[in-house]
Amino acid sequence: MSSSGSYPIVTLGAGPAGLSFSSHFNHNTDIYEKGTSWGGRCRSHLIDGFIFDEGPHSSFTKDAYIQKLFAGSIEGRFNEIFPRILNRYGSNWIRHPVQTNLKGLPVDLVVDCIMDFVKAEQDGSGSADNYGRWLIDGFGEKFARTFPYVYTRKYWTVEPEQMTTEWIEQRIYRPDLAEVLRGALSDEFYNIHYISSVRYPETGGFQSFLKGLQKGAKVHYGFEMAEIDVKKKKIIFKNGFERYYEVLVSSVPLPTLVQCIRDCPAEMREAANRLACTSIVLVNLGVKRNNLANSHWFYIYNEEILPCRVHFPSEYSANNSPPGTGSIQAEVYYSRHKPLGMSLESVLEKTIQNMITIGVIDKDDKITLAVCQDIKHAQVLYHKQHNESRRAVLDYLEKNNIYCIGRYGEWAYLWSDQAILSGKRLAERLVNSGYSICHFL
Ligand SMILES: Cc1cc2nc3c(=O)[nH]c(=O)nc-3n(C[C@H](O)[C@H](O)[C@H](O)COP(=O)(O)OP(=O)(O)OC[C@H]3O[C@@H](n4cnc5c(N)ncnc54)[C@H](O)[C@@H]3O)c2cc1C
Repeated sequence: MSSSGSYPIVTLGAGPAGLSFSSHFNHNTDIYEKGTSWGGRCRSHLIDGFIFDEGPHSSFTKDAYIQKLFAGSIEGRFNEIFPRILNRYGSNWIRHPVQTNLKGLPVDLVVDCIMDFVKAEQDGSGSADNYGRWLIDGFGEKFARTFPYVYTRKYWTVEPEQMTTEWIEQRIYRPDLAEVLRGALSDEFYNIHYISSVRYPETGGFQSFLKGLQKGAKVHYGFEMAEIDVKKKKIIFKNGFERYYEVLVSSVPLPTLVQCIRDCPAEMREAANRLACTSIVLVNLGVKRNNLANSHWFYIYNEEILPCRVHFPSEYSANNSPPGTGSIQAEVYYSRHKPLGMSLESVLEKTIQNMITIGVIDKDDKITLAVCQDIKHAQVLYHKQHNESRRAVLDYLEKNNIYCIGRYGEWAYLWSDQAILSGKRLAERLVNSGYSICHFL
């Protein structure tokens, strides 16, 4: 099976970035997608009447263009949610973020956290060259080691010292002493989170937000790119199909792309091998109970509890679970640094047990659905060699007319809105450099 194809610009992957590139390029590109549906990591799955996204998704974009695009995809039918967020530490439920809601924790712990916070403020924060130092400088030793250090091991699967800081942006709130003291002494609630409200489609799960981008896209399903000949500008797919291109736009995970390049220079392969990410097992549960959720989501700081974070998809839309039921999605991360070390069945069993232990599920509750999804590419890991390795690979690819977009294409911690903007930017760049979006019609 072989073809020269219809368009000189070929796209790999029908996730948000690939669909966005296509849409902003007037759909003058063929998209080849290895899966059987569009949406990438933003897909939503209907399982026995429950809708589960591929990891907890909601939109907290501040970008007016993306807000309009998402709303337009579903005729404005979304829920605006002001999330209730909790934290689990020991046997305590703590409001979010913990650093400004210490009240209720053991007194000795609160005192130590505050004393170390004051010390850190007095010492002044230098320019922390790793995440661990950044945490201790900003929160004090006791708080840092009791909360974010533990969470980092569970979510990022590495020690905080192994990570850089450039991914943090506004994701973690660093309070001042007055905020810490108020949160430790008073019952008033200080919700200082980078997410104050989120949007979620009324029906169809998060994926519905992408309908506007998908409309008109020429997606070929079941086409997994297996090899690229950069000299001949030819792609060979696993199903035997061959396709020539002038420009290749890729949202395929960067290390996978490099592995597939025929005669790729050894130093590029080595750089690509240094790129790291976490993987995730999603534990999706359906429970026959109406008032299941105590929050929209919560974080878990107990090391003996397997998941690091638990969401309640049924709280985002009543259409995410059948009447009289609620749903839970728990996240268990692993990586080459911290192997899972157990079967998916064991992850499922242990997570259910954990949910019973912390009181989210009652022993008598009827669990009507219990499934796991194992996802290889979850969060891009910002370790010390991340930047230079990524830059070297992206530069090499561009010299060979391969442009990478999106979270795994660019190998960056991008949310769906940023992945969409990444595809849009490339379409504009190619148009500006002379590729016409109507020439090929
Ligand atoms: C646990 C988790 C929670 C998240 N929560 C949120 C959230 O709340 N809000 C938010 O905005 N964002 C969230 N995100 C981020 C969001 O999922 C991503 O930003 C977005 O999906 C990235 O889109 P993309 O097109 O770059 O990549 P992808 O969505 O991964 O799309 C890439 C596509 O390429 C295809 N592909 C891969 N390899 C090949 C190949 N060899 N050949 C052909 N096709 C291939 C894939 O099947 C996929 O369809 C979350 C991500 C995770 C992991």
